[in-house]
Amino acid sequence: MRVGVLALQGAVAEHIRSLEKTGVEVVTVKHAEQLAELDGLIIPGGESTTIGKLMRKYDFMEAIRDFSGQGKPVFGTCAGLIVMAKEIEGGEEAHLGLMDIKVSRNAFGRQRESFETDLDVKGLEVPLRAVFIRAPLITGVGEGVEVLSTYKDEIVTARQGHLLVSSFHPELTDDFSLHTYFVEMIKQTKQP
Ligand code: GLN
Repeated sequence: MRVGVLALQGAVAEHIRSLEKTGVEVVTVKHAEQLAELDGLIIPGGESTTIGKLMRKYDFMEAIRDFSGQGKPVFGTCAGLIVMAKEIEGGEEAHLGLMDIKVSRNAFGRQRESFETDLDVKGLEVPLRAVFIRAPLITGVGEGVEVLSTYKDEIVTARQGHLLVSSFHPELTDDFSLHTYFVEMIKQTKQP
């Protein structure tokens, strides 16, 4: 199984390290053509406006929409979540618009720019150490979207079929259970 990490900007190396721990083959994705050889894709955190710009510049928009359209799993973390959302609050144009969620950027405000907490995530056996860095929140979900975790009643992890998103950075700790969850999603889609 081959899983790619979109390597335009942001926490790329950390995702590669976490994915490698799950035992899959990991591909650093710098060109849209590489998507053809992948079974799943992670869009890392960083800065969503920058990632969106680079995705447009390097022809990733249609390529990732096609990839997702084939039912191949995509996992967006933090800024990656923002670029996957159908709607961004504040009138900003959506990027990939893959997932039926509405997001608010930098929703925790200045005082809580970064923090860590232990989160119960549906589908994971033990709480996950979640690192939030200028994190977005999911402020609305469409019908097919399942909420996997909340923090103070706000949605921070969600899944819509083959699409997975988290507001936090699951790649910044040694706990790779959410990566394992994503790899399981990929395995399920590959079953005949
Ligand atoms: N605040 C960033 C944005 O709006 C996301 C932060 C992150 O990915 N850690 O793009």
